[in-house]
Amino acid sequence: MPRRVAVIEDSRYREHSGPAGHPERPERLSAVSEAIASRACAELVHCSPREATSDEILRVHPAEHGELLRAAARRAPSQLDADTFMAPRSEEIARLAAGASAELALRVAAGDFAAGFAAVRPPGHHAETRRAMGFCLYNNAAIAVRALQAEAGVERVLLFDWDVHHGNGSQQVFEADPSVLYVSLHQWPHYPGSGDFGERGRDAGTGATLNVPLPAGCGDAEYLAVSQRLLVPAVEAFRPEIVIVSSGFDAHRDDPLASMQVTGAGFGAMARVVRALADVHCGGRLIVVLEGGYALTGLRESTAALLDALLSDHVRPPADARPHPLLDDIVDRVSAVHGRDFPGLARL
Ligand SMILES: [Zn+2]
Repeated sequence: MPRRVAVIEDSRYREHSGPAGHPERPERLSAVSEAIASRACAELVHCSPREATSDEILRVHPAEHGELLRAAARRAPSQLDADTFMAPRSEEIARLAAGASAELALRVAAGDFAAGFAAVRPPGHHAETRRAMGFCLYNNAAIAVRALQAEAGVERVLLFDWDVHHGNGSQQVFEADPSVLYVSLHQWPHYPGSGDFGERGRDAGTGATLNVPLPAGCGDAEYLAVSQRLLVPAVEAFRPEIVIVSSGFDAHRDDPLASMQVTGAGFGAMARVVRALADVHCGGRLIVVLEGGYALTGLRESTAALLDALLSDHVRPPADARPHPLLDDIVDRVSAVHGRDFPGLARL
């Protein structure tokens, strides 16, 4: 049977708009949609989004959080912090983003599709349980993780966050939870300021948060090497049943909000690493949720490369990255923090 990949895009996601010149703008999704259209084929199936249910949202955010968002929407145009805006329909569109992520995860878990991509706005990974921030209102990926655990019988989930910013919200949601391995690659130092090596979870979740802060200027070689040298052994030890990627494309070299040098091909290579991990450990089950990415060129190139990796019948993981002096120190520091949690790291 041919491999089928679901994609969710919807014009309503463009109705969430902020002040003129704001980088998290509706045109981002036009660029993503162009890339999706360029990969049109029978195996790429468009699905309609639905709003997240109250139960789905309440697994991550207390009721007061939704009330605060709805009150801010009634005052719209309004702002929740210096970066995070509300248009009149923003709360329901955020629910539509969370619902798309949860629905796609459940459909992939049920075997309806091999993989899925939720091309949604607003993004989610900065949203903490009680706090909207960094353009994010509800934490879409976290809501998808909890939907899988509550409704699909999934226990162990890998949440891999390659957005250039640290996903402080996702870290906070799962920091005490040993059932979700949260791995983040991010520029450091940079917004939001969290995500240092030593932040490794707490209580029963100690060790299940793995942060890889990277200096500005890292490109394809560095991101691929970190994925192969740190993500792969951590996943082999953790053994997730399904993979969710918080996919910001703002590490792209054209991005105006960060200083990394990743190309579309680099995102494609990372996607192939993740796809190969999902194929080996998770029966291929892989869901990708759009987070940031503010250069239209970067969104276009990276989305196309991601879809190529999701659609390919037999994905070949990229050749091993060459040794890289800059990364030895980073790998050593991560291994020092996590060598006991993930023995494969200690052998590097
Ligand atoms: Zn970002």
